[in-house]
Amino acid sequence: SKNAIIIGSGIAGIASALRLRKKGYDVTVFEANPYVGGKLHVVEKDGFRWDAGPSLFTMPHLVDELFELHDIDPRTLFNYKRKEVVCNYFWEDGTTFSVHADTNKFISEAARTFNTSEVSLKNYLRNAKEKYDLTTSVFLEKSLHKASTYLSFDTLKSLIQSHKLDITSTLNSTNKKYFSDPRLVQLFNRYATYNGSSPYQTPGVMSLIPHLEMHYGCFLPKGGMHAITKSLHQLAIDQKVQFRLNEPVKKILHESGVANGVQTEQGSYYSDLLVCNMDIYSTYNLLLKDLKRSDKILRQERSSSALIYYWGVGRTFKELDLHNIFFSKDYREEFRCLFKEKTFSEDPTVYINITSKDETDDAPEGNENWFVMINAPANYGQDWETLKKISRDRIVQKINRILKTDIEKYLVTEEILDPILIESRTSSHRGSLYGASSNSKFSAFLRHPNFSGRLKNLYFCGGSVHPGGGIPLCLQSAKIVSDLIPDA
Ligand code: FAD
Repeated sequence: SKNAIIIGSGIAGIASALRLRKKGYDVTVFEANPYVGGKLHVVEKDGFRWDAGPSLFTMPHLVDELFELHDIDPRTLFNYKRKEVVCNYFWEDGTTFSVHADTNKFISEAARTFNTSEVSLKNYLRNAKEKYDLTTSVFLEKSLHKASTYLSFDTLKSLIQSHKLDITSTLNSTNKKYFSDPRLVQLFNRYATYNGSSPYQTPGVMSLIPHLEMHYGCFLPKGGMHAITKSLHQLAIDQKVQFRLNEPVKKILHESGVANGVQTEQGSYYSDLLVCNMDIYSTYNLLLKDLKRSDKILRQERSSSALIYYWGVGRTFKELDLHNIFFSKDYREEFRCLFKEKTFSEDPTVYINITSKDETDDAPEGNENWFVMINAPANYGQDWETLKKISRDRIVQKINRILKTDIEKYLVTEEILDPILIESRTSSHRGSLYGASSNSKFSAFLRHPNFSGRLKNLYFCGGSVHPGGGIPLCLQSAKIVSDLIPDA
């Protein structure tokens, strides 16, 4: 029978393995780390458990689909619950606002809190849905780079020019067309960070992102986000996918324009096809040194990175829930610093994720597991040790101001993740969370395709290629790759 090699066991790598297995291939996954999952990993210390990276989970049906593909009831291995409160927002002026999953409740409460008409909110959400419906089949579900096979160039052009999509204005100016209250604009601007971009640069079409969260909902897997990795890994093992951990691929082998295997320190392995889940930039730099690189694509600005403090907190805070945002006073300045100055602003927005609110085993009784994150610039060799010290102070002060507490008094343990570690642990170029940023209106077209234009039988999946980063899009990339590959 035919065999396939997958390079990397990130969420897209595991999903590709499961899909190719279903197509009849013998599948081997090579993973550089001693563990699977890449960014979707876990941190454990002193009785606390934190999800290492992603914390926001929407469109869970895309995970379920992988179990169903193999005729397994997802609920036997993987469970999740829908959150009533999607996110709690805090501003320094004392405003607090909880986004409820129930859209009507959200609309009436937002109208009241932000002195806005319900009609504007409804129109905004309707437009978000329209944008999603117009773009999803073109941009998210198929290989954009084989567009000609299902869509004429003229249709694509008219779609892009459609004023409904707001491709030529920024997310911030799109949001300001609907809302005058700066807090509400900030709330909707934040969705730019879901793909690591700036709301002052990313196109207005990104206002479709709230539709995902508000329509499909916000979920927490039983056992935390890491349960996604664990259960899919188990499913893949059950389906006889082979995993070779601790075995980084050093080179992609090819002959006469056809990719046919990989080289690791242990030896050479040959296959009928390859799916590479490694960051595309690092792939060209490290595994395909002998191939001409597509510089136009690789030169794209990287998305933002993150600085995370995993804190064990020795008390509980009833004002907080699973997702909490403490907004900066000057959002524009925050993004100017991140993308232009490549540094932190003096007052960064602080995100606190606490899974122990729902998963009580994640922290000892009476304690909470705080995942405290600020957006970080991509790694350009900044003095991270100094930046981490300054940032920690700023974060502590902000939390103290907003919660009127002295948080350091309650810290019982700490771990830190910075852009350098993200880069070294996952090969993500410059430690970016989502591959290339979406700060250009052309970014969708400048992402690397899901296949190699130079080597036959070489495919790409994961957050650094089409359609983009984040769990749902990574899962989508695996689906696109598998659709491009014939049955074994
Ligand atoms: P990755 O997770 O990048 O994994 C790639 C794998 O390939 C790694 O395991 C790596 O070791 C392996 N590899 C690399 N090189 C080699 C080699 N040469 N040989 C063998 N193996 C190799 N997304 C969301 O949806 N919601 C969120 O809330 C969210 N928050 C995030 C917060 C943080 C801090 C981070 C880091 C990311 C976040 N993301 C979020 C983004 C999300 O984590 C990623 O888009 C997604 O997990 C990337 O998956 P991937 O398949 O591209 O592979």
